[in-house]
Amino acid sequence: MTGSGHACIGAFVGALSGSPGKALAVGVVSHAICDIIPHSEAPRALDLVLAGAALGGIAAGFGARSAEFWGAAGGVLPDVEHGLVVAGLMKEQHCVFPTHSGALPHGRNGGFLWQAVAAATALTLATLLRLRRTH
Ligand SMILES: [Zn+2]
Repeated sequence: MTGSGHACIGAFVGALSGSPGKALAVGVVSHAICDIIPHSEAPRALDLVLAGAALGGIAAGFGARSAEFWGAAGGVLPDVEHGLVVAGLMKEQHCVFPTHSGALPHGRNGGFLWQAVAAATALTLATLLRLRRTH
């Protein structure tokens, strides 16, 4: 899944978890689940930039100490190893996250549409949860 999709879905599961620490953990778990579902990949360098932009937007909208932000961070965290590969600091075959190492299946060729719909829905739900809690 695209990193920005992982960030948005991580924000939602983080919102459901209720605390930054739990949010980080459930965000990482959401990454594995979303990686298993068949999806297409954006070019890695573009993907990393968009993931950073999504994290920045979520931090600006929900706050950097929020469960939403930490869920998003957990959602993106496993792809840090892809960033290290792009930067030439690590070899692809040394990736350790289960859906990157081959320990769990990594879905392919599933397109981008469901990812965009899932990301938009997740961010909308996270926003609605926040509004409901603050009003
Ligand atoms: Zn991944």
